[in-house]
Amino acid sequence: MKLLKCILTENDCYKTKRTIRPKGVMVHSTGADNPNLRRYVQPVSSTPDREELLAALGSNANGNHWNRPGLDVCVHGFVGRLADGTVAAVQTLPWAHRGWHAGTGTSGKSANNTHISFEMCEDGLTDPVYFRQAYQTAVELTAMLCRDYGLDPMGDGVIICHQDGFRRGVASNHGDVYNWFPRFGMDMNDFRADVVRAMGREEEDEMVYYRTLADVPDYYQDAVKKAVDRGALRGESAGVLNVSEDLCRTLTVLDRLGQLD
Ligand SMILES: [Zn+2]
Repeated sequence: MKLLKCILTENDCYKTKRTIRPKGVMVHSTGADNPNLRRYVQPVSSTPDREELLAALGSNANGNHWNRPGLDVCVHGFVGRLADGTVAAVQTLPWAHRGWHAGTGTSGKSANNTHISFEMCEDGLTDPVYFRQAYQTAVELTAMLCRDYGLDPMGDGVIICHQDGFRRGVASNHGDVYNWFPRFGMDMNDFRADVVRAMGREEEDEMVYYRTLADVPDYYQDAVKKAVDRGALRGESAGVLNVSEDLCRTLTVLDRLGQLD
């Protein structure tokens, strides 16, 4: 996932400076046929990396983007097309800022107080390639947020779309994302399952392995060498251990407990 950052500092929502403790992620889609991020996201003169952002996003000649006062909406991010046509995510509010995206539900409560939010820019809702790319980017963004904020993606009410929020009494009566996902055979249950899978892949990617004893960092070496010397750790072939950092750490703890001597 390509993730840019262009905080909408001129939006009145940003200026409230209110924060939340995120308890979930609410997925929206824009309800308008315009997949381009520049429709909604533009830097202003004070935005860090303004030139680079403008080049990546493309410029909005209509002045109808969301980085301006007078709007009653603001989300934490967008998923859509960059100027070069590729699909990316952009962060548009600090993640723990209180956004304006859900309105008030029938319970009198609002997911604005609990959920990080992002908009998926809709196109004409008939292009399976764009849908697949936007969906995958949304999955990866949600997985990152769940990891960073310790959220359980399968928890009740944690990952919901705007329409889910309405049914749960915490959002206004909008149809997104069920106006779009089902056209390609997907729903929010699929989305949640894909977020779980994406989080699993992240953990695998982060797992560090050491090929030989010489590759093992000094602070793990004694314990790993003891395990090898005692025949407890044999590896794959002569000299090749392919031992994970997790295992090195476990062996070091066992060594401190005197279990390897
Ligand atoms: Zn919505």
